[in-house]
Amino acid sequence: MSRSVLVTGGSRGIGLAIARELKAGGDDVAVTYRSGEPPEGLFGVQCDITDTAQVDAAFKQVEDEQGPVEVLVANAGITKDQLLALMSEDDFSSVLDTNLTGSFRVAKRAVRGMMRKRTGRIVLISSVVGLLGSGGQANYAASKAGLVGFARSLARELGSRNITVNVVAPGFIETDMTAALPEERQAEIKKNVPLGRYGSTEEIAKTVRFLAGDGAAYITGAVIPVDGGLGMGH
Ligand code: NDP
Repeated sequence: MSRSVLVTGGSRGIGLAIARELKAGGDDVAVTYRSGEPPEGLFGVQCDITDTAQVDAAFKQVEDEQGPVEVLVANAGITKDQLLALMSEDDFSSVLDTNLTGSFRVAKRAVRGMMRKRTGRIVLISSVVGLLGSGGQANYAASKAGLVGFARSLARELGSRNITVNVVAPGFIETDMTAALPEERQAEIKKNVPLGRYGSTEEIAKTVRFLAGDGAAYITGAVIPVDGGLGMGH
């Protein structure tokens, strides 16, 4: 039976691949987009996840179109890289507000319906740097590490309602975000990845599909690395 799925930041990159993968599995899939046009073949709702009223309005549209959200993928995220000494408070707080508080806003809104139905799947997209750390990304790494504590707390709170909450921690994936890195930095990164390459958005999407599927019914509070071995041991 098809489920009602919502993927935040599903207009491009990893989010779009996740949305397409879940749609291919037979689910009804909605995506939030912030700018531009919604992607073809998916139900698009415009939403900035830093705004609680917009999050609520987006959920209402999704509920009207395909029913209460049963699978939430909190994927939308940003970077504002800078060395700590040069990082403005706004660079720090806006990344936290999008990546961590944004996930809080959508998860909080989604669990309402999930608790009523006594079933649900939440997948939060973190990053290998959340646990590994990354010079010049203190804001981003803090937001992504925060998602782990957030997810594990929710896993404890919501387990009795048959709602699972898991984290996927991608390594370096071929997207606009990584294409923006300087060539030398890209080569250096690949040198440190045991599998010697970037991952593809599809490789993240398939892991999310697994966590959202029947095969992962007994997995909650887990952090699943999809990073070519980059973060091993963390
Ligand atoms: P992209 O920059 O390609 O896409 C980001 C998506 O998030 C876009 O759809 C964007 O919408 C949306 N978004 C950003 N801010 C907001 C906001 N305030 N409200 C609503 N939507 C927003 O990123 P990726 O696909 O590369 O990354 C997706 C996720 O995966 C992120 O959380 C990222 O941190 C994480 N990740 C990525 C890695 C990589 O190597 N690429 C590695 C590890 C983790 P819009 O198009 O309107 O800007």
